[in-house]
Amino acid sequence: MEIKKGIGVSPGVAISTALMIDTEDLVIPRRQVPETELKAELDRFREAAASSTQDLKALRETVASQHGNDIAAIFDFHMGLLRDPTLVSQVTQEINKNHFAAEYAVSVAMRRLASSFQQMSDRFFSERVKDIHDIEKRLLQKLIGKRHEDLARLDRDVIIIAHDLLPSQTVLLDKRRVKGFATDVGGRTSHTAIVARAMGIPAVVGLGNITSEVSGGDTVIIDGNRGVVIIDPDEQQLVENREFGQRLIRMETELGKLRDLPAQTLDGCRVSVQANIEFPGEIDDALGRGAEAIGLYRTEFLYLASEHEPSEEDHYRAYADALRRLGGRPLVIRTLDLGADKYTQAKQANPERNPFLGDRSIRMCLHDIPMFKRQLRAIMRASVLGDVRVMFPMISTMLELRQATMILRDVMEELEDEGIECRRDISIGAMIEVPSAAILADQFAREVSFFSIGTNDLIQYTLAVDRTNERVAGLFSPAHPAVLKLIRDTIQAADRAGIKCSVCGEMAGEPLYTLLLLGMGLRIFSMNGPDIPEVKKVIRSTTLEHAQQVAQQVMSYESERQVTHYLKEETRKLLPDAF
Ligand code: PEP
Ligand code: MG
Repeated sequence: MEIKKGIGVSPGVAISTALMIDTEDLVIPRRQVPETELKAELDRFREAAASSTQDLKALRETVASQHGNDIAAIFDFHMGLLRDPTLVSQVTQEINKNHFAAEYAVSVAMRRLASSFQQMSDRFFSERVKDIHDIEKRLLQKLIGKRHEDLARLDRDVIIIAHDLLPSQTVLLDKRRVKGFATDVGGRTSHTAIVARAMGIPAVVGLGNITSEVSGGDTVIIDGNRGVVIIDPDEQQLVENREFGQRLIRMETELGKLRDLPAQTLDGCRVSVQANIEFPGEIDDALGRGAEAIGLYRTEFLYLASEHEPSEEDHYRAYADALRRLGGRPLVIRTLDLGADKYTQAKQANPERNPFLGDRSIRMCLHDIPMFKRQLRAIMRASVLGDVRVMFPMISTMLELRQATMILRDVMEELEDEGIECRRDISIGAMIEVPSAAILADQFAREVSFFSIGTNDLIQYTLAVDRTNERVAGLFSPAHPAVLKLIRDTIQAADRAGIKCSVCGEMAGEPLYTLLLLGMGLRIFSMNGPDIPEVKKVIRSTTLEHAQQVAQQVMSYESERQVTHYLKEETRKLLPDAF
């Protein structure tokens, strides 16, 4: 048994068998063979090793002739590894003693080796782990070919273990079968994490090297509340975790009873709880949990889930579907927020050195007006089907906001010229997620009908902390006084201008911050559907007066620790079971 600590990003407990996937969805089955086939398995391993050595020799020669011997020497390490007596004897033992098929034996032995290299303090050796993975992949491809698992149609329950999951992989996961997932990298607001929460699948990320320690078929427990993964649990761990999982389900059922009750404080302050979605299909579940509207529709997932660029019709169909499901409730469509964490650099012709500060989001749209207009035309066509609002992401200058609005107005005119109906009075909003926009919120408030504060990016850019990097996850905090000041100022600027303001970043769905945001004047909380009941419970358990006192107290603190400590205490007074 082994216990690993990471970052719990989606609550719940899952117990199942591991399915290892890499970015190419290559899968390693845990297969056992009868005694009579052991020799054949050993031969398969030897052949795979010999054939890999041949490939490496050829590769070495090509690289040596083009780049010199020094660089080609990397392959000597790879070839040496394939001959390494310890490795060969471990694979042989896994086959002979445990009757494992060659691919599984290779995977187990390689993971053991990678793990021992990882623990070495010498940087040279610890960095060789990547080479070990490389060799493992080479061997496995010989042994099982490039067998790709169809993650959308699995035939058994699994827990996915991966170095990282691309958003496009996450959205395709078969929800009925994937019981949880754990990754080496990632942070609380990385998109994989957000999608896991939206799907209600327990997940732990930022585990460092979980892929080196688990083999496909191992039993694994994922505890998304505590950020813990247990590999090969003993009987006691299994019993305890099953009980904990049951308790969480009972709590969820209890919270579900709040569904049809208003999100209103004890002294009558009405708040709107709304949901964030990536796909229209999530709307039914969100409404079932009490969402009053969709406060953030992340439309870029239409791109991420498909190989081709969506057409105007693809966009339109998705929006029309969302509006039909909403039955008159508002739908805030965010225009494309592609780039950085939401679009693999590998898909770009010229990867950027610093994509988070690069040509992403609204900037990308303003550089590719035909693409932008395709989406805007679809939004405007859908505007007559329901209560549609449009919102521009990553606004950092007034010029960007004005350009985006001008293009939207152009689109309205084009449609009118073509005799296509649209609502010219559509509500236009801006996301406030870059510090420059938050600092100048008063100016921006004069130009839009609403604000939506994207705390995920606002925190990232205010504190200079990559939201997807587990190494700095401890520095990523909504409770930093600088972040809180920007949020409060933005809410107040909206209030002064008489426009609406919501928070749609992950902070809105964390009960720890509900009292504070309410006390700061926030009246629209938009979050992942599964977070709604708990946030609603906090709102219904307090008074506005108390929330305002809490906010006032918090704003007097100088450190993030003081803020979280105090908020925990205050929230626990209302909900003793919280946290
Ligand atoms: C945010 O940045 O807080 C936000 C809601 O947008 P996203 O997470 O999609 O970047
Ligand atoms: Mg954002």
